[in-house]
Amino acid sequence: MTQQADLLAYGRQDIDEVDIAAAVRALQSDYLTTGPEIPAFEAEFARFTGAAHAIACSNGTTALHLALDALGVGEGDVCIVPSITFMATANAARYCGAEIVFADVDPATGLLTADTLADALERAGGRAKAVLPVHLAGVPCDMEAIAALARQHGLAIIEDSCHAIASRGASGAMVGACTHSEAATFSFHPVKSLTTGEGGMVTTNSPDLAARMARQRSHGIERDAARFERAEGAGEPWYHEMASLGWNYRLPDINAALGRAQLARMAQFAAKRRALTVAYREHLHALAPLVRLPADPQGSDPCRHLMNVQIDFEAAGRTRAVVMNALKERGIGTQVHYIPVHTQPYYVRRYGCRSLPGAEAHYVQTLSLPLFTRMGTGDVERVCAALAEVLG
Ligand SMILES: *Cc1c(COP(=O)(O)O)cnc(C)c1O
Repeated sequence: MTQQADLLAYGRQDIDEVDIAAAVRALQSDYLTTGPEIPAFEAEFARFTGAAHAIACSNGTTALHLALDALGVGEGDVCIVPSITFMATANAARYCGAEIVFADVDPATGLLTADTLADALERAGGRAKAVLPVHLAGVPCDMEAIAALARQHGLAIIEDSCHAIASRGASGAMVGACTHSEAATFSFHPVKSLTTGEGGMVTTNSPDLAARMARQRSHGIERDAARFERAEGAGEPWYHEMASLGWNYRLPDINAALGRAQLARMAQFAAKRRALTVAYREHLHALAPLVRLPADPQGSDPCRHLMNVQIDFEAAGRTRAVVMNALKERGIGTQVHYIPVHTQPYYVRRYGCRSLPGAEAHYVQTLSLPLFTRMGTGDVERVCAALAEVLG
C-alpha cells in the first residue's frame, strides 16, 4: 500500500473536499440522473470553451458517437482518423457504419497535419465525409490549415479534444470553441485534466446539431412539442415521441455536480499543468538530443494532458521496456500513447496492414512521463534525474 502511494503515476485525478461535497449534495437531491446539474454543467462548460452549446453525455466515446451521428455519418462514408490516438476515435465512426482511412501524423508531435490529411484524402477516393483531428496530449493541431483543406473537400470536422481541455489554438480561441469545426468532444475520465469519474461533453455552435445530440443521448425521445411530428399529442401531458433510434448515453446528475466543482478549479489546474510543463522543459533540456519535447506549435498555448516525450531508445542502447521497468523500480510510472490504431488486429483484419511511417516513427520513440496537478516541480526534477540515470 505505501509503495503504491509513493508511485508517481503518469496521470491521476485531483479530487478535493469541495468536489466530494458537490457529489454528496447531488446524492441527497431529488435527482440522481438527469436533473438540474446537467443544464448547469452544460452552460458552464459552453461558457468556458466559448461554444454556443454543450451537450453532456456518459463518456468521451459516446460524445464522439453522438457528434458523428448528428452529422449524418453512416454506411458508405469514410472518416479520416489519425493513427496516433486512443482507439475510440476510430471506433465511434465504426459504430455509425462508416469505414476508417487512417491518416499519418507528424513523427515529432504525433499530430495530424494538412499534409497527412491530403494523403489520407487521396486514399479515401472521394468517399470521405468527416475528419477527426486529435489534439494529442493537449497540443492543438494546426486547425486553420486542416480546416482549409477539409472545407475544399466538403468534410465535416470533429475535434477529438479529450486531451485538450483549457488548451488554446493558434487563433487564440479555446479548444472547444469550434472556430474551425462542427463539433468538439471531451472526456472526463479520471486520467483526463478534469474528471467526473466517467463522463463526456460535445460542444458545437450549431443549434440543430445540439438538439439532435440532446435527443439521441436519451433514446431519440423528443419532449419539445414544437418539434413533434404528430400534432394530436401536443396537449397530452404524458406525450413524447421517439423521433429516431437513440441510446442511453446520459450523464448522471451526481457526475455533473462533480464536473461543475472540477470546472470551477480548471483555471488552477491549467496553471499547474503549464508550470509543470515549463519545469519539464528546463530539466529535459540537459537530456537532449536523446530526449526531446517538441516546441509548442506557433501561437498556440497548450494545456498539456500528457508529458509524451520522444526518446531515442536505440541511441541510448536500452529498449523502452527496460527503461519503463527501471523507472517503475524508482517509483515512476510511465505509459505509451499510443500503439498506432491502424496496427490493431481488428483494423488490420478489416483494412490490411499498410505502413504509416510518421505514426510508426512517433510510436517507437514515445513515452509519457508523470504529469498531474498534485505533483510538484520537485517531482519533475526527480523524474528527469531518474530518466537520466536510466538512460545512462
Ligand atoms: C479518453 C479518450 C477518448 C475516450 O474517452 P472515454 O471517456 O474514455 O470514453 C477518446 N479519445 C481520446 C483521444 C481520449 O484520450
